[in-house]
Parts: sequence; structure tokens; C-alpha cells
Amino acid sequence: MAFKEGEVYKCPVPECGCEITVTKGAAPGKGGDEPPRCCCGKAMVKK
Ligand SMILES: [Zn+2]
Repeated sequence: MAFKEGEVYKCPVPECGCEITVTKGAAPGKGGDEPPRCCCGKAMVKK
């Protein structure tokens, strides 16, 4: 999935709770299909 500006991704691990906001989107056509990964190792989910 390509990042889009303003999207918020959240770590699904309750004890972690890390959240990231995309401040600048990916260029069109440059997005991969890997979800962002938290520092704890879990795939982050889009809010
Ligand atoms: Zn995490």
C-alpha cells in the first residue's frame, strides 16, 4: 500500500500503542504492498 499524506497507522499491540502519521505521501506508482512495520516488529494498521 502506498502512503498517503495524513494517514495514521497504529501498532495493533496494546502494550506498545505506537502511532505514526504520514507527513508526506509516496510518489504515484511508487508504493509497495508491504504494510509499515512498528519498532516492535508487528505490521501496523491504518486507522
Ligand atoms: Zn509496536
